[in-house]
Amino acid sequence: MHLSEILTHLGENRQDYFNAVSPPVIQTSNFTFDSLENFRQQFSDEFSHHVYSRGNNPTVEILRKKIAALEGAEDALVFGSGMAAISTAVIANVKAGDHIICVDSPYSWTKILLNDFLPRFGVEHSYVDGRDIQHFEAAIRPNTTLMVLESPNSLTFELQDLAACAKLAKKHGIITCIDNSYCSPLFQRPLDFGIDIAMHTGTKYLNGHSDVVMGVLCANREMIRKIFELDYMTLGPVLSPHAAALAIRGLRTLELRLQRSHDSAMKITHWLHKHPKIEQVLYPFHPSFLQHELAKKQMKGAGGLFSVYLRAASKIKAETFFRRLERFLLAVSWGGHESLVLPSVAFHDIPGREDSPIPWNLVRFYIGLEDPDWLIEDLENALAVI
Ligand SMILES: *Cc1c(COP(=O)(O)O)cnc(C)c1O
Repeated sequence: MHLSEILTHLGENRQDYFNAVSPPVIQTSNFTFDSLENFRQQFSDEFSHHVYSRGNNPTVEILRKKIAALEGAEDALVFGSGMAAISTAVIANVKAGDHIICVDSPYSWTKILLNDFLPRFGVEHSYVDGRDIQHFEAAIRPNTTLMVLESPNSLTFELQDLAACAKLAKKHGIITCIDNSYCSPLFQRPLDFGIDIAMHTGTKYLNGHSDVVMGVLCANREMIRKIFELDYMTLGPVLSPHAAALAIRGLRTLELRLQRSHDSAMKITHWLHKHPKIEQVLYPFHPSFLQHELAKKQMKGAGGLFSVYLRAASKIKAETFFRRLERFLLAVSWGGHESLVLPSVAFHDIPGREDSPIPWNLVRFYIGLEDPDWLIEDLENALAVI
């Protein structure tokens, strides 16, 4: 299906709501049945009917259809956060005694899910450097049931060879899931490489306006039905109809926003790479990136997120850079309209806490929708004070 069809029309049965161009927010908790027979029949298959908004809701369904089509998946579920989506996908595919193989630097809360949450239920894990398929192979145990991938990750951007991972996992009957947030479905479609479940924080590119926290899962219908009927309905991690309507609005411009962020980040990373105060640029689509060839092979673009190592003599010197920046907001998250900076030095020297293992001179930037030259001007001024 054409991307324009997905973003502009798919799932929107306008004749069902007065031919309104924009879908209504169906703000209801429950749905009524017109007969006892229908009640009995529809209640027995909540996955396929409107019963209660912890399950299905028509506004949320429009979003699900668009997201599934974007990933080339049969179906999708949407959640109240990216972590709800990731945790649900993982929990749905393990039981006590199982073993998970995960890439060694996943999103921070994914790591907490594996390190601190799942061991309470007897689920163990190994971390592997996912840049080499042999590391996955060596980590497989008889009780390995799930591989958790994240390619690229959102700080230092290590990749996995998705086709190789899917092939290896299939051979051993292991389910594969991937956090595909960095690329969005426009720049990478893991299911096309044989991965079973694509997961996203929708908080970042999919909604794209820094005003909704949400998550999504995409997979075949059998997997989605399985997750819906037990894990989703039990844990109750729903997205509200209001948030779904905002996300549908955000999706209208996904293609435009992502391309703009990508083009600007390409320009800005090339500029930074040549700057004497920058030690190294980490961006999968920059030729200096170690896995640049693999990135080109399995991704169509890299979007607006990259990191650099500052060349600064001391933490104090590095801090002057952040004080001088005026056009980047100091904040976590990414994928919205606004450009952001995330200084690792903020996770150092916190009283009563161990310093983060991430070097203090690593800085993550997210490039939003502003004019890249206007952002470069700001970077130039701030780099000059280091
Ligand atoms: C933000 C983020 C998440 C978590 O998503 P939430 O919507 O904040 O729960 C997961 N993975 C990546 C790569 C992220 O950037």
